[in-house]
Amino acid sequence: MNHGRPAGPAPDPDNCPPDPQETAEAYLLHHLRPDEAEAFEDHYIACARCAAVVEETGRFVAAMKQAAQGLCKVSDTPRARGAAAAPAGGSRGN
Ligand SMILES: [Zn+2]
Repeated sequence: MNHGRPAGPAPDPDNCPPDPQETAEAYLLHHLRPDEAEAFEDHYIACARCAAVVEETGRFVAAMKQAAQGLCKVSDTPRARGAAAAPAGGSRGN
């Protein structure tokens, strides 16, 4: 048994939001009210389960942002024209 408890609030599963993933996403996208964001922050730093969800969702959000930036860069580069002239949406029947 482990008797060494870290100082601070113990993870309380009862405080988990009903949908941690949705809450984490809203938190990371700043869609939560400041008090809600603060409450969730206080919770997930003590809750391994929600911390993992926040980390995972954070990676997902960062990847989405990167993908969006990448798309902007590609369409922003005039030299890319012609080189990437792939026919799009050919609806030919056999
Ligand atoms: Zn939690």
